[in-house]
Amino acid sequence: DVVSKLAEKEEGVKVCIRVRPLNGGHSEDDEITANGWTTSGDTISHASGGVSFNFDNVFTPPCRNQDLYDSIASSIIKSAVDGFNGVIFAYGQTSSGKTHTMLGNEGDSGITPLAIQDVFRHVLKSTEREFLVRVSYIEIYNEVIKDLLCKGQDNLKIHQDFTGRVFVDAREEVVTCAADVLAIMNLGEEQRTFGATNMNERSSRSHTIFTIHIESRTRGEHVNADDGVAVCASTLSLVDLAGSERASHTGAEGVRLKEGGHINKSLLTLGTVINKLSEGVTGHIPYRDSKLTRILQPALGGNARTGVICAITPAKMHIEESISTLKFASRAK
Ligand code: ADP
Ligand code: MG
Repeated sequence: DVVSKLAEKEEGVKVCIRVRPLNGGHSEDDEITANGWTTSGDTISHASGGVSFNFDNVFTPPCRNQDLYDSIASSIIKSAVDGFNGVIFAYGQTSSGKTHTMLGNEGDSGITPLAIQDVFRHVLKSTEREFLVRVSYIEIYNEVIKDLLCKGQDNLKIHQDFTGRVFVDAREEVVTCAADVLAIMNLGEEQRTFGATNMNERSSRSHTIFTIHIESRTRGEHVNADDGVAVCASTLSLVDLAGSERASHTGAEGVRLKEGGHINKSLLTLGTVINKLSEGVTGHIPYRDSKLTRILQPALGGNARTGVICAITPAKMHIEESISTLKFASRAK
């Protein structure tokens, strides 16, 4: 029936496209058409190869992060507060607008700060349950995991507990309001740049995962380890992925090539995993093939909700890369 169809649609992987503005002098719509793109509603196509793709939404400029948040993120955030794991990715080549989307700036808050505000809005509204909210912030660079909230923790390990739950022992800070989190995010950003000889290169090759851990229980019941009070726990991961440009394009050698290889492997594995999940495959899903997918496993499988924001630039010189991003996006759908 209609209701279960709708529920089914809600559960699936949500995928949207965001086309960034160019910095040229044309009006923004003109820029996009002049570069051969046609967009309408949930479809985007390019004149070059007759390619056409349908997504949950296609966002073109002028568009604010809040618009994307409302369309793709808010229901995932609400579910996380209700106890379901969730993850939102920003995918795309370097400079396509991933960090702009996830972090934003003063005049246009990104998905991460908007999600945090929303989590606390839900938490404060809840009369029946009380919450404990913690955050962690890590970076994966060259398959090495760095804790952005704890100086010196540059090589975190992935662990598995006796129940099979996979986790990283990154520092988790308890937060009680959105302002706490924003201060922590800024600290994390400082850590991220610390010691990086070439910040742009590092940020284009690394994945960052900002995780909000949410625990709740019925108000008034005591938190005694063995009093049997059911604690509901979920994680919400907000992921700014490494640039998706292929290693062949970077012309890299040595260490750079190694990094490129790892990033490709992580992104490739992520693509395979999301693809299998969106097809409802119940057999083997290769989470273990990359650090990224291993860490995100609890937020990807089962009842988890997934949102993918694919960022592209309409620029002519990047058409090939943009089309490859759209292909990734349609495989995820
Ligand atoms: P990425 O993280 O994918 O490498 P960035 O988010 O850093 O890309 O974007 C590159 C540049 O383009 C930044 O200066 C950013 O402010 C700008 N930019 C990207 N997307 C938008 C957008 N939708 N609106 C305005 N400026 C944008
Ligand atoms: Mg970035």
